[in-house]
Amino acid sequence: MTIRIPLSSISIGALENRHVAEVMRSTMISSASPVVAAFEAALGARLGADHVVAAASGTCALELALRALGVGPGDEVIVPALTFASPVAAVMLVGATPVIVDVSPEHWTIDPQEVARHIGPRTRAIVAVDVLGHPADYDALAAFGIPVIEDAAEAIGARYKGRPTGSLGTIAIFSFHANKTIATGEGGCVATNDAAIGARVRQLTNFGMNPQRRYWHEFAGHNHRMTGLVAAVGLAQVMRWDELIGARAQVTRWYDDAFALAGVTRRPVMSWADEATWLYTIADDRRDDILRACAGRGVDARAIWPAIPDQPAFADLAQGAYPVTRRISDTALWLPTSAGLTEAEVGEVVQGVLEGHSRAKAA
Ligand SMILES: *Cc1c(COP(=O)(O)O)cnc(C)c1O
Repeated sequence: MTIRIPLSSISIGALENRHVAEVMRSTMISSASPVVAAFEAALGARLGADHVVAAASGTCALELALRALGVGPGDEVIVPALTFASPVAAVMLVGATPVIVDVSPEHWTIDPQEVARHIGPRTRAIVAVDVLGHPADYDALAAFGIPVIEDAAEAIGARYKGRPTGSLGTIAIFSFHANKTIATGEGGCVATNDAAIGARVRQLTNFGMNPQRRYWHEFAGHNHRMTGLVAAVGLAQVMRWDELIGARAQVTRWYDDAFALAGVTRRPVMSWADEATWLYTIADDRRDDILRACAGRGVDARAIWPAIPDQPAFADLAQGAYPVTRRISDTALWLPTSAGLTEAEVGEVVQGVLEGHSRAKAA
């Protein structure tokens, strides 16, 4: 099929071009470029986080967050079964063991009751994923007294009980991959209000060097830093925050309005959550019919990720039946969601969904 309406597309304009040109002209293109610090400060102001460290990707940011909390071999980290795989892989990459738990049918994020059942003497952290733009239940997670890593890669601009994502756990991470809401191609960041953890992240991403003493390495660190060219794009995107996040909210309203009367089920939203839709998601028993109808119209709708415990990399770690995640993985699908999507394009997607939905019902 030729794709006419892609699942995701990036919004790059004059501001991004100007910022990149300025950094090129300055020749300060490494992570030492002042634009990296400016990007971090602009993010911190939006996220309500005192310490923001830009990183090469969201996955690097996850690894930095885990290491900054001292997570390593012998430790267990509780992770949700419904997520992009990156947070689960990051736990394994630092040598710890992911403990995969089911999500809640009410909000599709990690189920605090399942977390409670899986906490043990070796539990060092919980990774909560704000899946598809909906925050996890942070008050319930904080009650366990275990550090919480907030994977807000898909939820920039979302709020939990009025508080922005990025300030809800012990430490948070974001991704700026090209398909994310604030996009730099590749990129990510760590955000925290804990000064000691923030300093540790900074040192970890800077070869373990003492910040006051050049070439004095206190531990073996990474170079997971972001370049000035990438941060130039990021700074422009953060300056367009309201526009980019508002446009996705508008797309969400168009879908919601079209589906409310048609009996198409969208992913649930809790009263304590202000969702910031990353990908608009519906769930339907005859998903294949909808995907086929959309494909026939050149609409790039896609099935959600397979459950983490069903994937070759993680199957050994499965424990239990994961009924909620498996049901979502079997029925949920994403519809095109981007800041640049027009109402007419949303209408075309809706036609595809309704065609598949009613075909399924008639069958
Ligand atoms: C995109 C994503 C990541 C990974 O970010 P990268 O920048 O692609 O490494 C991590 N966690 C979640 C939940 C994501 O959706």
